[in-house]
Amino acid sequence: MLTIGCHLSCSKGYANMARETASIGGNTFQFFTRNPRGGKAKALDFDDLQAYAALAQDAGITRILAHAPYTLNPASNKSETREFALMTLTDDLARMEQATPGQLYNMHPGSHVGQGTETGIALIADTLNEVLTPDMTTTLLLETMSGKGSEVGATFEEIAAIIERVNLDKQVGVCLDTCHVWDAGYDIVDDLDGVLDEFDRIIGLERLHAIHLNDSMNPRSSHKDRHARIGEGHIGFEALSALTNHPKLAHLPFYLETPQDELSGYAREISALRAACRNS
Ligand code: FE
Ligand code: FE
Ligand code: ZN
Repeated sequence: MLTIGCHLSCSKGYANMARETASIGGNTFQFFTRNPRGGKAKALDFDDLQAYAALAQDAGITRILAHAPYTLNPASNKSETREFALMTLTDDLARMEQATPGQLYNMHPGSHVGQGTETGIALIADTLNEVLTPDMTTTLLLETMSGKGSEVGATFEEIAAIIERVNLDKQVGVCLDTCHVWDAGYDIVDDLDGVLDEFDRIIGLERLHAIHLNDSMNPRSSHKDRHARIGEGHIGFEALSALTNHPKLAHLPFYLETPQDELSGYAREISALRAACRNS
C-alpha cells in the first residue's frame, strides 16, 4: 500500500496528528519538532503519546518523519549558531528516542554562508559526529536541497561527502525532495531512471528513506525552492505520480509539503495520487 501523508502542525499533539492523517486518507505524516524557526520544544505528554499509539495503529501509521527547524545551521560561520544547532539536534534526537523510537528525523544540511562547500561539509559532519550515538534507533535524514543561497546538499555528491565523514553512518540516510532536486537541476520529469541511477551510484539507494513529494513553481535548475501543489507546477502530476509507482521507490513514505489553505487540499492530492498508483 502506498505510504503517503503530509506535513502537519504539531501544536495539538501526536494524537491529533494521527486523527488528521486518518481524516485525509493518509497513513504517515511529517511534523516540526518545535517552532520551525527554532525555540523551545514542548514537554512530552505521555497521555497524548498513549492515545497516539492506539490511533496510529487504527490508521495504519507505522512510519513518521520529524523535521528539524529549518533555521538550524550547523555549517554557520558563527560558533553560537553552530552551538545552537548542536543543542537542538541533541535535544530533538533524545525526544525522538523517548516519544517514538525507530522513526525518521529529517534536517536541512545547512548553508556555508560564504565559507565554501568543503568547509560547510566538514562542519555539518562534525556536528553529526557529535549528535549521533551507537544505541540510537532513530535514523537521521539529510534532505536534498535546491541550492538557493549557499545551501549545502544540492548535489548528490555533497550529500555523499557529508555521509562519508560521519563515523556512525548507519544512522544516516537521505530524504529526497522532488521540488528541491528539480530546482537543483535533476531531470525527474524526462529521466527519472537516470536520476535514480545517479543517486544509487553516488549515495546508494539503500540510503533513501523518504520522499518529499512537491511540485515546483519554477523551471528546472532555478535554485529557487518554491513548492507548488501537485500538478500545478513545472514537474506535473504525471512525473510525481511516476515516483509513487516506481519499483525502486514504491516502498518509501511520501510526504506532501504543498501550499494548502486547508487539510482538504491534501486529502484531494492523496486521493488523486492513490487513484493513479498501482499500489494505491
Ligand atoms: Fe525540508
Ligand atoms: Fe522538503
Ligand atoms: Zn522546500
